[in-house]
Amino acid sequence: MRKNKIILLLFFIVFGSIQLAFSQNKKLPNVKILATGGTIAGSASSATSSSYSAGQVGIQTMINAVQGIKELANVSGEQVSNVGSQDMSIEIWLNLANRINELLASDDVDGIVVTHGTDTQEETAYFLSLVVKSDKPVVTTGSMRSSTSISAEGPLNLYNAVAIAASKEAIGKGVLVTLNDEIHSPRDVSKMNTTNVGSFSAPIKGIMGGVFYGRLGFFREPTTKFGNTSEFSTKGLTTLPRVDIIYAYADMASDLIDIHVKAGAKGIVIAGVGNGNMTEDTLKAIKKSYEERGVIVVRSRRVATGWVLRDNEFKDDDYHTIASHDLNPAKSRILLMLALSKGKKLSEIQELFYTY
Ligand code: GLU
Repeated sequence: MRKNKIILLLFFIVFGSIQLAFSQNKKLPNVKILATGGTIAGSASSATSSSYSAGQVGIQTMINAVQGIKELANVSGEQVSNVGSQDMSIEIWLNLANRINELLASDDVDGIVVTHGTDTQEETAYFLSLVVKSDKPVVTTGSMRSSTSISAEGPLNLYNAVAIAASKEAIGKGVLVTLNDEIHSPRDVSKMNTTNVGSFSAPIKGIMGGVFYGRLGFFREPTTKFGNTSEFSTKGLTTLPRVDIIYAYADMASDLIDIHVKAGAKGIVIAGVGNGNMTEDTLKAIKKSYEERGVIVVRSRRVATGWVLRDNEFKDDDYHTIASHDLNPAKSRILLMLALSKGKKLSEIQELFYTY
């Protein structure tokens, strides 16, 4: 009788181990999906409704909706936030970056996918690319159509993102952005259309690679520093210095500079007209705010694409301004916030815009 019990116990131990081995396929990479919200987790009252609420669906429901995802990797999910990405915050960025660094330091995680709204996805991806310290793949994705929409593209985008995060090809390429069968570098990609499924593109440098039902390839490497070679880190940070963006226009009022400085801005990015231009009076106000308060101003562009060149229509040194190179205003703000968080001086900041 006792012998039978021991045999039964042994049977359960062996059977249990086989079960465990099957439920977590050791040969597959382990990919963690960190969900932050957005349209990919949005739902509407009907499949053809153009209005919906972002950030409604939980991570496990999203994973369950993607057929075949478990054949690509051992996937598991964590809900970091559930917001429309217009409500993405520095606090969530810091938590997300710290969690990613913690997960990637473990041998049990081979890659990360971040699901995110499309409105500010390029900002989050660019921020993460500067502060994630690992060669393992980190891939952000989202969707333009909500999860309940007719022809929702979120499940395929998530499938492709997991395929990239699980791949050897993506190792060492930094944070990547994938939507609509394309793979992008965060520095280069922008949301270019308010509603179209093919909204993301990289107008200056082009796409980095492609992904088609999980089959992927890269055409080029990132052209600026990121990840392990980046000097930026979130270690010890609880917030970032305030940097505001001001949109330039004909007859722009120069007192906007004083208003933002008085509100506490330590840096300002101008979404300048043309090649980062603004009224003469605004330039004089910028010069004054640097000389009197040490506020650093970056000239970016309100134009959708193109470089902002140093010393173009005037000498930047005359007004203490920085040219954003090819960075758009939102990403210029991120780089300036990180630079100020490290106490970088005006004389050091221009070089950062060429390097990162
Ligand atoms: N405002 C939403 C967001 O960014 C909608 C955009 C989207 O995810 O497609 O979260």
